[in-house]
Amino acid sequence: MAKKYVYSFGGAKADGNESMKNLLGGKGANLAEMAGHKDLRLPVPPGFTITTEVCIHYYKNKKAYPKGLKEEVYKALEKIEILMERKFGDAKNPLLVSVRSGARRSMPGMMETVLNIGLNEKTIPGLIKQSAGNSRFVYDAYRRLIMMYSDVVMEKAAGIEPKNEESGIRKQLEKIMARMKQEKGYKTDTDLTADDLKKLCALFKAKIKETLNKDFPDDHYEQLWGGIGAVFASWNGKRAVSYRRIEGIPDEWGTAVTVQTMVFGNMGSDSATGVAFTRNPGNGENQFYGEYLINAQGEDVVAGIRTPAPMNQYSRSEHNKDLPTLEETMPKIYQELFHYQKRLEKHYRDMQDIEFTIEKGRLFMLQCRVGKRNGPAAVRMSIDMLKEKLIKKEEMILRVTPAQLDELLHPVIDPKAELTHKPIARGLPAGPGGASGQIVFSARDAVEWAKQGKKVILVREETNPEDVEGMRAAQAILTARGGMTSHAALVARGWGKCCIVGCSALHVDYEKKELLIDGKILKEGDWITLNGTKGNVYEGQLIMIDASEENKILDEFLKIAASIKRLGIRTNADTPEDARRARLFGAEGIGLFRTEHMFYGKGAEEPLFRLRKMIVSKTPDERKKALDELFPYVKKDIKGTLEAMDGLPVVIRLLDPPLHEFVPRDPVKLEQLAKDLNITLEELASRAEALHESNPMMGHRGVRLGVTYPEVSAMQIRSIFEAAAELIKEGKEPYPEIMIPVVCDVKELDDQLAIVKQVYREVLEKYNLKKIKNLFGTMIEIPRASLVASKLAQVAEFFSYGTNDMTQMGFGFSRDDIGGFLPDYIKKGILPEDPFQTIDQEGIGELIKIGIERGRKTRKNLEVGICGEHGGEPRSVEFCHRVAMDYVSCSPFRVPIAILAAAQAVLKDKKR
Ligand code: PEP
Ligand code: MG
Repeated sequence: MAKKYVYSFGGAKADGNESMKNLLGGKGANLAEMAGHKDLRLPVPPGFTITTEVCIHYYKNKKAYPKGLKEEVYKALEKIEILMERKFGDAKNPLLVSVRSGARRSMPGMMETVLNIGLNEKTIPGLIKQSAGNSRFVYDAYRRLIMMYSDVVMEKAAGIEPKNEESGIRKQLEKIMARMKQEKGYKTDTDLTADDLKKLCALFKAKIKETLNKDFPDDHYEQLWGGIGAVFASWNGKRAVSYRRIEGIPDEWGTAVTVQTMVFGNMGSDSATGVAFTRNPGNGENQFYGEYLINAQGEDVVAGIRTPAPMNQYSRSEHNKDLPTLEETMPKIYQELFHYQKRLEKHYRDMQDIEFTIEKGRLFMLQCRVGKRNGPAAVRMSIDMLKEKLIKKEEMILRVTPAQLDELLHPVIDPKAELTHKPIARGLPAGPGGASGQIVFSARDAVEWAKQGKKVILVREETNPEDVEGMRAAQAILTARGGMTSHAALVARGWGKCCIVGCSALHVDYEKKELLIDGKILKEGDWITLNGTKGNVYEGQLIMIDASEENKILDEFLKIAASIKRLGIRTNADTPEDARRARLFGAEGIGLFRTEHMFYGKGAEEPLFRLRKMIVSKTPDERKKALDELFPYVKKDIKGTLEAMDGLPVVIRLLDPPLHEFVPRDPVKLEQLAKDLNITLEELASRAEALHESNPMMGHRGVRLGVTYPEVSAMQIRSIFEAAAELIKEGKEPYPEIMIPVVCDVKELDDQLAIVKQVYREVLEKYNLKKIKNLFGTMIEIPRASLVASKLAQVAEFFSYGTNDMTQMGFGFSRDDIGGFLPDYIKKGILPEDPFQTIDQEGIGELIKIGIERGRKTRKNLEVGICGEHGGEPRSVEFCHRVAMDYVSCSPFRVPIAILAAAQAVLKDKKR
């Protein structure tokens, strides 16, 4: 049998179906499904699809069509004529068609479309009759055809390159139309009368002849084949080719061409067009939702010139509340549409976005596809559909993206408001959600203004630990410098606070209290709005929406996700409140408790003062005294968190940052410190100066502090064991895991383990206990540590990947200075994305794999986790799942996202 090149659809029948996307393209397959599937058989305007194989043949054979195509096309056209009781090219009752592209995967706007084909001098009177004498409508359709056809077919597809943008044929015709409107004093296109449009068509044709040296074809068949050829040609148009490169779509796929009956929603008051959703895409409620316009074309709904009316009572809103619903104006058609949408949703088992047209009282379904939805709607729909038995729980989990889930956890900018505003700057999306507030430039002002009940956004070059109070008081934080693991980013993410960092377009002038963005000056007190999920900065105060009431649904959703995942999910938390919050979100332990965080923020004054004393101590005696004073604070802090996580593991990391970070800069504090130590200010300054390092991130930090000051490690370890011992006495089940940071060799671990053992014995004795459940382990954050992992695992009972430092040291990119060059790396495509945001699987990922393999060879039951910022990023979570880590750890607000990503990783594994 000869190959079939043309597939018809319409009249409750179709040659093809949804599974034939490769042959019929997405659009063709979908139309065939809607028209022909036994559960649907919807009134789709009849038509036919020419297969992608024709496109492939066309390019392989010098743009010639396969034999037999013409006959098949004419036969299919005849079928349409019978169904529509109209004839292509007929003077009395003409059939008009559209010609559209459709590749396997949607390539929105990349290829061409021609509408109203079959309209010519001969068929114009027939169409006027069909439209009950509406000659304005007919000449408008004709001028649209001439414009589109001359542009798409006669110029672009013919390979004619206009000299410049202005000399393209479409532009020239637009100018003629603009001139006519101006001469007549019209404001909009709709002011043009039938006579005007008729004249325009003649002017257009003359211009086409003059410019392209060819007549606009009046023959309907010539129009049809011109349109088909132009769609095939557009597969290799510049736009489509570059889109394919970006999206990785192979050239060999080719496009299908769909030829379909034109139906018009603008044929009078018994015609209409509209868009609807089978459920509310804004909140997920199971309610038919949509809008329509009487006597209009699809474009008019999109263009927003007229306010569309609500579909039904449910779809009423503030701006359309006085307009009649479709249910009121055309009750029968509304009922018909209502049944179709029910059928569509049941068939596709997902919320559908539907386009329809009513032509002279007859309903046509033009398109349906899976509808876009926001986060709250996505979660709600997936749960509802599970309960309605429309989907299984695996599908329910795959229906919600981690980004959608994130929307439920923070207030966000109203998407409608965001659409109508242009960002004034962009930075790195460091802390999620949206926030608006008045600009302040110092932490102190942030606290002061907030006390007066004002909403502020703290704008800084960068932040440091002394800004923490102001950061807490602010709605959001915006910095000019720093990357995704900078101080501001880490702190804000930990709190789930909106934050944008590395916004390099920002120039802050602290003295004048103003900032310069893109030539614009904003002053203290001016309003700005941030979208911390995207990294966009807006001027003014945009409306916020709070989705947090959806939490009951979120809990339900997360329970199911948690039942699917394999990875454990822990949290990075340094306070009992954070620990409790994360536990509510489903955290199964703490993967990183950064001891040093107790020296920042609320209540930190006293311990910080003692820490500073310890840091600037010169003699062991001085240090010992300061450590003894510090001990009760550290113990109390650790105890609080161990208690909040009762029964669950808590990884406590010994002091990590370079000490000079804690040296005060404030003169008042310096003076206090000197007095307490009984030394002069000069002496203090010289001690502080001695701590200065040129490369602190690779200097005296992490385990190196413990090696040079064993007594500092001992104090911390004692705090951990005593806190645990007290809790055991109180009937609790603490489970500390002691973690040594920035390790590069097993001997460093030996050195610290000796201290652990010694202190452990002492504490058991002091509390008269036999055992305190605990583990001893290390962070893997230096590339060498991964390579010597087999040795490290002789001593370490667990590994935790510190991918922030691992990325920093693996790439040799300072994590606090990437703002200066990384944006260019990404712009130039040298790196596909920021490796501090998502694990660089090619390089850093290999280091991780090597470390896990080598470590587990030595110690089979080695516990492996991740505590770098990547632990809450969905693709990195999937990677951690694949390399068989035991858990990921992330900030409390990212716990739900990690749970979802971990569940999805299992399901994707199964699919593979
Ligand atoms: C890391 O390096 O990944 C890590 C978690 O430690 P920090 O960010 O505190 O250096
Ligand atoms: Mg680190």
